[in-house]
Amino acid sequence: MLNLNHEKEEEVERLWAPWRSKYILCGNKEKECFLCQKPRENKDEENYILLRGKSCLVMLNVFPYNNGHLLIAPYRHIASVEELSEEERIELMELSSRMVVLLKNILHPQGFNLGMNIGAVAGAGVAGHLHLHIVPRWSGDTNFMPVLSDSKVISESLDDTYRKLKKGLEGMSKDEAFGENS
Ligand SMILES: [Zn+2]
Repeated sequence: MLNLNHEKEEEVERLWAPWRSKYILCGNKEKECFLCQKPRENKDEENYILLRGKSCLVMLNVFPYNNGHLLIAPYRHIASVEELSEEERIELMELSSRMVVLLKNILHPQGFNLGMNIGAVAGAGVAGHLHLHIVPRWSGDTNFMPVLSDSKVISESLDDTYRKLKKGLEGMSKDEAFGENS
């Protein structure tokens, strides 16, 4: 009975804050922060870096909660929103808009979760480096993780999603990304 309740709680938590999954961004605590390290390696395809802006970048989460789970982060290793420069703040939001449109175009989700976990207590896997999660949602998708717990399936799926999104990005105009109010 206790277990059932616990599972139910976890499911509810995943529904409103799916990025709090223990599968995401874990296991790197002793190593250098991957959000600093990956962009420096200049292996964008291998690291699933989708887009480099002036002050922020977009990458696929390699431990996705759902297909197309993206992370947007400033290049600078800063821990919280109030530390963002004006340029970073603007670009973070602009990239969010662009990525939502891109995901709509390519993966056709029915909804999104966008969010940040600030501090380890709030569930941040990399607590020192601010990042925004964009998780596309489809109805009935809450059982995605168990299905893709096989790492081979995950990496094939990541490669495929990366290629599709990269291609979609090339064909996307600025107007389309930011709507008519830009
Ligand atoms: Zn960092």
